[in-house]
Amino acid sequence: MEVSLYIVATPIGNLSDISYRAVEVLKSVDYIACEDTRVTKILLEKYNIKTKVMDYHKFNEKEKSDKIINLIKEGNKIALVSDAGTPCISDPGSELVAKLRENNIKFTSIPGACAVITFLTHLVRDNEEFAFIGFIPRVKKQQIDILEKYKHTNCIFYESPNRLIETLENLKNNFGDIKISVARELTKVYEEVKTDSISNIIDYYKNNTLKGEIVVMIYAQKALFLEDSELVKKINILKNEGFSPKDISKIIAKLYGENKNKIYKLAIN
Ligand code: SAM
Repeated sequence: MEVSLYIVATPIGNLSDISYRAVEVLKSVDYIACEDTRVTKILLEKYNIKTKVMDYHKFNEKEKSDKIINLIKEGNKIALVSDAGTPCISDPGSELVAKLRENNIKFTSIPGACAVITFLTHLVRDNEEFAFIGFIPRVKKQQIDILEKYKHTNCIFYESPNRLIETLENLKNNFGDIKISVARELTKVYEEVKTDSISNIIDYYKNNTLKGEIVVMIYAQKALFLEDSELVKKINILKNEGFSPKDISKIIAKLYGENKNKIYKLAIN
């Protein structure tokens, strides 16, 4: 069976970050399905690609997936791109993949730029493990719930520059002064990657440019205390040394990455 659809990764900033194969495929197919045709046309002009474009975005994914399946059944070859990076990764595409599978249509993926993967190559990590949650939810409670779930794993998310400080303040209030990395404008002229405590990063971005595209990693917090009884033993040692419940919660949260409120509640009992 021949390949009828190509999922093609495009650059995340630097227009040269595209593979030879991707350019060849974009030239050879009958249609390119794009998230925003105006954005993709800039890339197509740079590489002198004259292929017809059609739109395929999150608001018309369902109906356009059907249209693409019909075009394929009529013998057309299609490429799917998003505005930047790899389609289907925090971008439209999954609906179409489901339809391609349902219809037993052969497709392939042409790899290339992806912000989360590019970001990972900038970081020093103890191990390969990471969780990627796409865009972090806007609701504060949901932010905490999801990061609590991945608390013991390096956890990466996308966030808009307009919400970054508010999101980081929320995480700091709940998880303490944790270690984080923030990348801004990867592969572009003003590329910047910073690793520090969350409070230093907040201060930095309150005083420096915060524009462009952002990826964040929250480093894994150490899971030393699995048993509350162990926690209580440590709390009692500090209590006997004369520390207040407030200080105890601060100390243990900082040393062991435990939740400050939980320790405080144990300490006052
Ligand atoms: N599909 C894309 C990928 O493969 O990374 C992601 C698309 S998602 C709609 C866009 C988000 O990805 C941005 O809001 C930002 O969080 C992140 N992003 C994309 N390009 C970036 C860049 N050059 N530097 C930092 N983050 C970037």
